[in-house]
Amino acid sequence: MTDPYAHGTPADDFHTWVKLAPTPCPDCECCAARLCELGRLHAFGCGAVADPGDWEIVRDCPCSAETTEGTEAHRAAQVRDARRRRKEGDR
Ligand SMILES: [Zn+2]
Ligand SMILES: [Zn+2]
Repeated sequence: MTDPYAHGTPADDFHTWVKLAPTPCPDCECCAARLCELGRLHAFGCGAVADPGDWEIVRDCPCSAETTEGTEAHRAAQVRDARRRRKEGDR
């Protein structure tokens, strides 16, 4: 039985770091597709879900950037903006 995806061990379930998997993301040069998938759901993007050793490589990933619509970082930035505007008050 040769399942290429069967390399994970039960111990992997204890942490949330995502290894740079062999399937590259189609939208960027830095991440694995799976990493970007998770990075988009995180307010701090790919850098927050990547292995700490890969952080420098993936922190500028465009896929999970707050300038990219549809990402959690984008949503968080909008919330932050709205809050700031509210705080500044109507002029
Ligand atoms: Zn990507
Ligand atoms: Zn990424």
